[in-house]
Amino acid sequence: MKFFKETDVVVIGGGIVGTAILRELSKYEISCLLVEKEPDLSIGTTKANSAVCHAGFDAPTGSWKQKTNVRGNELYHQLQDDLDLDIRWTGSLVVATTDEELQQLQILLERGKANGVKGLVILTREEVLAKEPNLTTAKAALWAPTAGVLWPFGCAIAFAQCAVQNGAQVIRDCAVTGFVKEDGAVTVVNTTKGAIRTKAVINAAGIYAEEIARLAGDDSFTITPRKGEYILFDKTAAPSLVWGIVFPCPTEKSKGILVCTTTHGNTFIGPNAQDQDSKEDTAVTPAGMDEIIAGARRLIPNLPLGASITEFAGLRAVSDTGDFVLGASKVPGFFNAAGTQSPGLSAAPAIAEVLAEAVGKEIYMRKKTNWNGKLPKKKAFNRMGSSEKQKAIAENSLYGRVICRCETVTEGEIVDAIRQPVGACTLDGVKRRTRAGMGRCQGGFCGPRVTQILARELQIPVSQVLKERKNSCLYYEKFAPEEDK
Ligand SMILES: Cc1cc2nc3c(=O)[nH]c(=O)nc-3n(C[C@H](O)[C@H](O)[C@H](O)COP(=O)(O)OP(=O)(O)OC[C@H]3O[C@@H](n4cnc5c(N)ncnc54)[C@H](O)[C@@H]3O)c2cc1C
Repeated sequence: MKFFKETDVVVIGGGIVGTAILRELSKYEISCLLVEKEPDLSIGTTKANSAVCHAGFDAPTGSWKQKTNVRGNELYHQLQDDLDLDIRWTGSLVVATTDEELQQLQILLERGKANGVKGLVILTREEVLAKEPNLTTAKAALWAPTAGVLWPFGCAIAFAQCAVQNGAQVIRDCAVTGFVKEDGAVTVVNTTKGAIRTKAVINAAGIYAEEIARLAGDDSFTITPRKGEYILFDKTAAPSLVWGIVFPCPTEKSKGILVCTTTHGNTFIGPNAQDQDSKEDTAVTPAGMDEIIAGARRLIPNLPLGASITEFAGLRAVSDTGDFVLGASKVPGFFNAAGTQSPGLSAAPAIAEVLAEAVGKEIYMRKKTNWNGKLPKKKAFNRMGSSEKQKAIAENSLYGRVICRCETVTEGEIVDAIRQPVGACTLDGVKRRTRAGMGRCQGGFCGPRVTQILARELQIPVSQVLKERKNSCLYYEKFAPEEDK
């Protein structure tokens, strides 16, 4: 049999969990590669969520969710500097607005202490208002100082870049279609690009983890999609709303509809929690919008709904085990990092440690002595001071050309994002690496110019530039924007 690749470990799925695992594996003297079915990383659940690095008081004590959340939160505090991750350590509040909810705060506090979460305390109404003056309905709140807001796509891409810098490979546009077993153990991964010979496979396929497990002969869990919808507000509305992360008291299904301000200063509200059959349907619905507006108004009565700039939805991968499904399966050579609903973002670096340890029990893995865990630091143009901007333009004149006016993103940054390791190859890939198209106009103005830059850099016709997924071309040849002089 002719193999497209031969490697020690294949990671399936380029979301935050798969990329974190790839980075962890790159610490060892083994060969490893990640396959992602889409043209870019981070376009599954990792692209649409609340972006909160949870403190870790929600999950039941002793569960995988609890252990990996608390450890993951600690790891992000270290990783922020190493990988230049965009994280605001704002702390989070769980707000009680009724007397019954006051008791819930006490339960969360006790559980948080048992879970090993540091610094938890219940604040009085006055203390809450001193932190968040708009929480006028609050009676009290649980304060978790270790929580933060992160930039999920940036984290996943940084994990992948760090792995690649240490010898791992990332193969995009490469869907897993099946497995070959020898003596019961998975030894070959069939993909749309060819067969890959391997010693171990890690299933980090998010919402599709059940299908991948079934292909390997593991039927130990199911995954149900649970949709969560959001509304994102323009930056001008944000300062008057909330500074950090504000949750209501949780429900059985979710942590509730929160109000939160992102790392870049946009406030958002959401998510709701609707189970559904489809693993592809991420459409927002009028009923969903009404639900999240009503939920958020319980916390902040005066929402600036006129300042909404987009709505979106993500799908939680809910496993029937009630917990993350982590580690070796009953099929030799096949491992799961599945059921990664919230707090999967927060837990990803710790999930990666669990998986590396599990794989290390089946194949010999020795730590590298020359592993490089640092990525170069890069400041966004719109966060530079005047003299830094002048210097950047003097070094590369493309930094003097603003392409995205809403977010002040320059051509220099867009070109860097395309040329960097695991670089952008789609319009949304540029958006998630640079923020071009994430502002008030949502790419209405800069989209055609970014498309031209992508076409030039990738040396393809404008009509072949993708928005995000396969076949998402933006222009027919006849209507393509002309060469920008
Ligand atoms: C509404 C909502 C709110 C959330 N809020 C938070 C939060 O605030 N904090 C938090 O910690 N977590 C949160 N989460 C959870 C978090 O977003 C997820 O845990 C995390 O993004 C899961 O990452 P993943 O890598 O497992 O999955 P994904 O990001 O979905 O990645 C899986 C990847 O596998 C690929 N794939 C699938 N099938 C194949 C195949 N056959 N071949 C190759 N590749 C394949 C997919 O294309 C995809 O890119 C939230 C989730 C939702 C939906």
